[in-house]
Amino acid sequence: MVMVISDNNSAGQTLDGPPPVVLFGGTFDPIHFGHLRAAIEVRERLNVDALHLLPCHIPGHRDQPDSDTSHRSNMIRMAIACNDANDETGLLIDLRECAHSQPSYTVNTLLALREEIGQNQALIVTLGMDSFNALPQWHRWEELLSLAHLLVLKRPDNELAENETIAELLKKHLVTRLDDLKQSTCGGIWVEEITPLAISATKIRRQISQGLSARYLLPDTVWSYIKTHGLYGYEP
Ligand code: ATP
Repeated sequence: MVMVISDNNSAGQTLDGPPPVVLFGGTFDPIHFGHLRAAIEVRERLNVDALHLLPCHIPGHRDQPDSDTSHRSNMIRMAIACNDANDETGLLIDLRECAHSQPSYTVNTLLALREEIGQNQALIVTLGMDSFNALPQWHRWEELLSLAHLLVLKRPDNELAENETIAELLKKHLVTRLDDLKQSTCGGIWVEEITPLAISATKIRRQISQGLSARYLLPDTVWSYIKTHGLYGYEP
């Protein structure tokens, strides 16, 4: 079925094509249950088979990560690894940004993806509300909505920023249902409630550096990896 998004926004063309490509980017320094739970809930609510975790190599608009790209990617791999043939998570890792020596600008990643998938498939970028609030500081951010939709995750202790740019963006692009993001290729914004988990990588890094345990904030395999490699100042 083809559906037209309301006239109040500038979402891209309508479509009846292949399922959307859903991305969830970040530094994942380290990946934790806040990311993983959000990823599963987004994939299930969009009713798509896969969600791609996209670790950035060199962030363009925030501090450099504590641990290097190979450690961060290894931890993602471990977090989503599963020996169960009936694994229902549908979480994949996309290493495209790790191959570049320049900063990982989302606009460049989306341009490259659009080249690959063409103009008839929806592209959905998942991001937490804190990241969305900082959008106006992103490189060439005005182009992002002509390439993809934005699916914004509510996050404990984070509200939508009260500034004119964010208000204008929402006025122009907010869609009325999550499913609207599947009915056009780009240009929509949706804010989704997910299971609120007040976990952040910053807090995890701080705890570890203070000699505190990070167990139960992230998968056991990731916690073991951090200890084995002495990441974030871990000392036995
Ligand atoms: P840091 O504390 O280092 O900034 P983080 O925990 O926010 O890290 P990132 O790798 O920066 O993790 O996050 C990737 C994306 O996941 C961002 O868009 C962020 O807003 C979102 N995110 C992170 N943690 C959560 C959470 N607990 N709930 C919802 N979204 C989250």
